[in-house]
Amino acid sequence: MKTEVVTDQPMVALTFDDGPSSAYTPAILDLLNEHNSSATFFVLGTEAEQNPEILRRMVNEGHEIGNHSYSHLNFTLLNDAELAYQIDTPNVIIEEITGKAPVLLRVPYAFINDELREKIPFPIILWSVDTVDWQSRNADYIYNIVINNVKDGDIVLMHDIYGSTLEAVRRIVPELINRGYRLVTVSEMANNRGITLKQGNTYNNLHP
Ligand code: ZN
Repeated sequence: MKTEVVTDQPMVALTFDDGPSSAYTPAILDLLNEHNSSATFFVLGTEAEQNPEILRRMVNEGHEIGNHSYSHLNFTLLNDAELAYQIDTPNVIIEEITGKAPVLLRVPYAFINDELREKIPFPIILWSVDTVDWQSRNADYIYNIVINNVKDGDIVLMHDIYGSTLEAVRRIVPELINRGYRLVTVSEMANNRGITLKQGNTYNNLHP
């Protein structure tokens, strides 16, 4: 059960890329549920196909699913047909599974240029706090980066495919709530801020 978002409450959007993973994503969903919190999952088409139940859980439990491409290629190296495949396929897969097509996209590796911005038919969501969890694989390090840097309107990048990230998230979620933050999806934060996310625009944060 989610309560209404209070407009003047500081908020943070936790985002998780490259999943879902059967090993870690369900535990992250359990944790978010326990804390009445939401997050955004930028999933890969390849992983979505293999984990339909997890995708349905995400939507049923109030989270947002974003498109993170079909198979995590560098968009700047693709021709138009390849680019369309990478963007369109995950949206079709996710809509077939959940009944709801993603409206946000995160480009793999954050590799983006002006030509791509014109071709990508979605708002492009990047991040303002990079936990570098894929590199450190260290829960203390991930926790400290978030807690020492986070502020109202931040978008935090993590990956729901590592045990160290799950371990960090178990501490990050209650601590952010202790500090007065509400944990919301990217679209909830934009709505709350009165920001219309526009196609081809890049967003690193939704600071007030
Ligand atoms: Zn990624």
